[in-house]
Amino acid sequence: MGACYLSQLSSIIVQNAPFFLHKTCTELPKIKTHWFRQRQATLNFEGFEQCEFCAQYCSGFFYNIGGAWDMCIRCAKFADIIKCEGHQHFLFYDFKCNEKCNGCGTNNDIGAFRCGKCKFTLGFGCLTLPHSALHKIDQHMLNLTYHDDREQSYCDICEQERDPRLWYYSCSNCDTSAHTECVLGQFPFLKDGSTFSHYDHKHRHDLEFFRKAEGYPRCSYCGKLCQEEILKCKKSTCNYIVHCKCRNYQV
Ligand SMILES: [Zn+2]
Ligand SMILES: [Zn+2]
Ligand SMILES: [Zn+2]
Ligand SMILES: [Zn+2]
Ligand SMILES: [Zn+2]
Ligand SMILES: [Zn+2]
Ligand SMILES: [Zn+2]
Ligand SMILES: [Zn+2]
Repeated sequence: MGACYLSQLSSIIVQNAPFFLHKTCTELPKIKTHWFRQRQATLNFEGFEQCEFCAQYCSGFFYNIGGAWDMCIRCAKFADIIKCEGHQHFLFYDFKCNEKCNGCGTNNDIGAFRCGKCKFTLGFGCLTLPHSALHKIDQHMLNLTYHDDREQSYCDICEQERDPRLWYYSCSNCDTSAHTECVLGQFPFLKDGSTFSHYDHKHRHDLEFFRKAEGYPRCSYCGKLCQEEILKCKKSTCNYIVHCKCRNYQV
């Protein structure tokens, strides 16, 4: 099993496997009319980009819709009328919907899927969450879970409270439960080695994303050890390395 380089639709535990392409991904149309605002969508390859629909950073193919919105391939596979595992009724995309998503409790100014029969609302961010994921907190696969009957819940990873009305990951064997963002981390859909080529005024070489740094380098910005996600200069003669959080990667 490996993660398709283009879609990264497969389970996120295999991100560093040598890449292969799903046949369906090599056949993605270069140009199509997307249902979102009925605009022309053009296929682009991006090294490091934030999807404006699910808000995740991804590397791979994106559709640029109407010259204005970047949509990742994970989001682009959905139609504007969907059935999802977390809800019993059909959901319809509503551009004007500003209600809070029932999965994560946040709203998005580009709209959301909403139910025609009840008040359920779902954003792209929750719609595209992997159905299962691994985390070192539990030896089993954690499954995306939509209902929690308890009145008060805690996350076993960050040990903070967890709103039982929102979606979470859980293991039914061990009774482990955790926030989706604690299980997935900040960059679940970025592959190691993804190229980040947005320069700032101080450093003007391409950077590469890595989940972990080799050895014990210190961040060029804050001076602390690099023990989490980093961006590292591609030039071997340059020692620039920064925590992702220390680099303004939003573009
Ligand atoms: Zn694929
Ligand atoms: Zn997306
Ligand atoms: Zn959500
Ligand atoms: Zn409903
Ligand atoms: Zn947590
Ligand atoms: Zn377990
Ligand atoms: Zn830093
Ligand atoms: Zn450099």
